Parts: sequence; C-alpha cells; structure tokens
Amino acid sequence: MTLTDLLLLGRNSDPTSERGVSCDGALPAQSEPGLVDRATRARLALGSQVMVLGHHYQRDEVIQFADITGDSFKLAQAAAANSEAEHIIFCGVHFMAESADILTAANQQVILPDLAAGCSMADMASASQVQTAWEYFTKLGIASKTIPVTYMNSSAAIKSFTGKNHGVVCTSSNAPRAMSWALSHGEKIFFLPDQHLGRNTAVLSLGMKLEDCVVWNPWKPQGGLTDDELRSAKVILWRGHCSVHGRFTVKNVSDIRAKMPAVKVLVHPECQNDVVASADVVGSTEAIIRHVAESPAGSQWAIGTELNLVQRLAKGHPDKVIVFLDKTVCYCSTMNRIDLPHLVWAMENLVNGQVVNRIQVNPTDAHYARLALERMLALP
Ligand code: SF4
Repeated sequence: MTLTDLLLLGRNSDPTSERGVSCDGALPAQSEPGLVDRATRARLALGSQVMVLGHHYQRDEVIQFADITGDSFKLAQAAAANSEAEHIIFCGVHFMAESADILTAANQQVILPDLAAGCSMADMASASQVQTAWEYFTKLGIASKTIPVTYMNSSAAIKSFTGKNHGVVCTSSNAPRAMSWALSHGEKIFFLPDQHLGRNTAVLSLGMKLEDCVVWNPWKPQGGLTDDELRSAKVILWRGHCSVHGRFTVKNVSDIRAKMPAVKVLVHPECQNDVVASADVVGSTEAIIRHVAESPAGSQWAIGTELNLVQRLAKGHPDKVIVFLDKTVCYCSTMNRIDLPHLVWAMENLVNGQVVNRIQVNPTDAHYARLALERMLALP
C-alpha cells in the first residue's frame, strides 16, 4: 500500500483498518468504447456460476450488470440463498462483501472488484478501539449489563466482537427491534458504529430522551465520558457516522420547503437527529424506494440519501418530482470506486480462471459474526 492510496481514501489514521490498495491488474480505460460489450460477453460466458450483486448506491454503468440489486442486508440474504453460484461478485463496499462471505458456503468465493471500496463509517470503529472501550466498561462493572448492537455497516471484526459478547447485528430497518431485544437482555446498549442511527432509533422509535444517550469518542481517554455518565446512560453510542448522510442539515430541509411548499422530505436514518426530526418520512434505502414507488403521480419528494440512488429514482419515476435534498452533498466516494473497468477486469479474470480480489473473513471472526447475524435473523 502506498501513501497515495491512504491519502486518496483519507483514512490514514489506523493502518490496520485500511482496505485501500492499488488494483494490481491492467484495468481497461474508463473511456474505452467497447467496455459495455466486453462486460456483456464476460457476463454471458460466466453464466449461473457467477452472481453479480449491486448495491443501490452503485453507478448505473455497474448496476446494469447486477443480477440482484438491494441494500446491504438484502444483498447478504441473496448471497446466502444462492448455493449455485461459485463466485459472487459484490458491487458494493468491503463490509458487505465480508458479510456475504460469512453467510455463504465454504466453496463459494466472494469478489470485490476494487479493494479500495471501503466504508468510512465502518473504518471509524477499529477492533482494538472497541476492545479498549469494552475493557473500560468491564473495569467499571457495566459490561455485564450492556448488550452490543452493531449496525450492518461495520467490519467483520466488530460483528465478531458483538457475537462474542451476546450482542446482535441490526440494519436500518430493524434497528428498533434489535435495540428492544437488547434491552430485554440487558440494561444498556452499546451501539456501533453509527451514532446517528443509534440515537434516532433510541429517541424516535423507543421513546428515550436525547440525554439517555452518551457518545463514546475513541480518540479521547475513557471515551471523553465520566464514570457517572457511563453508569447512567441507557445507550452508549460509538462516535461514528456516514460521511454522506451525516452532511445533510436542517437548513437543507427548510430551504427546500421554502422553494417547494408541497414537497415531502424523505431521509435515511443515518442522517443527524435534527434532520430526521424535521423530515416527513424516515426510512432505510429499501423503504425510501418503496415510499417513492407507492406515492401518487405528481407528488414531490426531496430525498436525503446517496446521489446515485436519488438520480435513479428520478429517472424511474418521471411522473413524480424527485430532487436531491442538498446540492453540495456528493456521491459516496468509496462506493463509486467500483466502476465498469473494475467490473470488466474482475469478470474477464474469472472467465480466464483467475479469482481476483477475493474477500475472505478469518474463521474465528466469521464464527462469532455469524452468531450476531443469526440473532438478528431470529429477532421477533
Ligand atoms: S454511504 Fe455511508 S455508510 Fe454507505 S458505504 Fe458510503 S460511507 Fe459507508
């Protein structure tokens, strides 16, 4: 890995959590005119031995080759349900490919077309930082009453920590159920790594007060909290956020309402609490898609989620007015690392019998992470 790789990703604080590496193959040029034909030929040659999964935030040039599109949970389920495909090409980010590897059979191999497609939120919680926090909770006597709840958008190592410590994984759609389950098994929740999803769920779905939540900052001694604050908190939130959703503001909401009085604001629960509180509808990626599809013709939506998805929704629903909540918020840069040249490179290598960029979780982490994922699947 070079310094340039690290700077490119802007994640140079913890080298152990880096996934950014240069692609070691000869990538076709983005401008090559025959790229779509090459991808089509490779996809046909690979047939049903390969499944291509595409996350909703991927570019159109990639999504057109996906057998299944979905959010991270739906794609992990799709990978788990397919026992035929020997190779799963995951057009998404690193933690999603890890989850697919954990949930698929040992003979199935998961490929991430560009290893630099990480997630800045997942990288905000390293295994060693989380372990340090847990050791402090243990010393304080609160670990035994605390249940970890970890968002799907986390590394396999953090899911493994969760499984080992009797916790559960959650998605943005089942976070209320996961947190209620945790409170029926303990007195406190340790929510990782997205503070906004944890806070929004605690306050808006479980009826807690903002003061019931404290934020553990891994860069400060004792997380920047006093022992009393830790003892009295109902939810200890990890100081992580999504670098895309975290940028929407309440001013974006008031500006769009002033400009389009009939607009409904629809945002993802990874947005900040005041943004979520001022929106008309809050929903996971799949819920956003469903809401727009089910809304009447002529309805107006300002959507606060990743730009590729909003643009695709606008194209797919020409009978509705669909705008992006804020013009200055951009694409998810790491999701966008996967482009057609990387997909062609990964598929053509497979046609030639070469597996490139395989994502493989170590057996111990896979075992404990699976426990936490299975607890999620068994939620009432
Ligand atoms: S949109 Fe946010 S949470 Fe999703 S991959 Fe990008 S940085 Fe991570």
